[in-house]
Parts: sequence; C-alpha cells; structure tokens
Amino acid sequence: MEMFKIIQGAVQGAVQIHSPNFNQRPEDTDIRLVVIHNISLPPSQFGGGYIQQFFQNQLDWNAHPYFKSIEGMQVSAHLLILRSGEVIQFVNFNERAWHAGRSSYLGQMECNDYSIGIELEGSDDQPFEQQQYDVLSQLILSIEQAYPKTYQHLTGHSDIAPGRKTDPGPFFDWQLLRADIYAKRQQK
Ligand SMILES: [Zn+2]
Repeated sequence: MEMFKIIQGAVQGAVQIHSPNFNQRPEDTDIRLVVIHNISLPPSQFGGGYIQQFFQNQLDWNAHPYFKSIEGMQVSAHLLILRSGEVIQFVNFNERAWHAGRSSYLGQMECNDYSIGIELEGSDDQPFEQQQYDVLSQLILSIEQAYPKTYQHLTGHSDIAPGRKTDPGPFFDWQLLRADIYAKRQQK
C-alpha cells in the first residue's frame, strides 16, 4: 500500500526538481498542517511544463499574455501532482516553501512556517483526475506517518486565506479525498 516513503524530508518516488523559493522554517517548528492548492499555467490549461518553470524562476514572462500578470513572483510548493498523477517535489519538507502567503489556521498565522503545501495541476473550473486523488491520499498518509501532528489537519488554500484565494476550488472533491484517505488507512 505504502507507495511513498519520506526520508529526511524527501519523498521517495517523486521527481526531484529544485526550487530556489524556500527558506528555513522557524526553529523548533513541528510540521502540523497540509495545505491543498490548485495551479495551472496558463489558467485552466494543462501540460506544457510552465508550472515547473515558474517554481524554478525560469518562466519566460513573454511566452503567454497571462504570464505578465505573475511576472517576478517567487513562489513554490513542496509538491506538485500533475494530471497524470506524477509527483514532483520542489522543496524538502524540512524547509519552508512559499505557497500560502498571508494565512492563518486555527488562529495561527503564517501557515508556510508549519505546513506542507501540495499543488494539484488543476483549476477552479474543471474536475480533477481520479489518479490525482489517488496519489494525494497516499501522500497524505505518508506525510501523516512521518509528521504525526498533521493528522486531521488538512485544509485548502481558500480556507486559510479566505477572500484572497479560491483554490483548490469548487471542483475539488473533499468528500472523495477524505473517503479515500479513510479507506486506505483501514487497509494498512
Ligand atoms: Zn494556492
């Protein structure tokens, strides 16, 4: 069942692509939250490798008119799950990725400090792929095992930055994800 092992903050089975957009978590910070996002570049278009380029600060801002609106932004997530279910890791879990921005969860500000950010290649106007849920639930269980304080602390970007962010959006099926996590947990 266990498909992803986490060794020293690195997900075995994920493609490793380095993003320069990270820094240190504050000292003695336990990882205790998983934040789900969606991203597509250009919006609602899949494939093309632009997200990977964006997280590496290598996106050609002239390649699409939309890219002008995000020019110079330096962001990242720990993980990206492509439409195919392929997993890319950009930032080691021990480091602080730049995915949440101004945010708070259960009254604690700056979610980047203590969370793991997972981007799904997707948009607010299209359903996600079944294989993305499948991989996501497996990842969440692996993360839960490596970082027990994340247990039951799963949220969306829109929940920790309401009014500012809308992802993972109305098409993200929380019920399906939770059922999937529950089922896989029973199998272990
Ligand atoms: Zn987001």
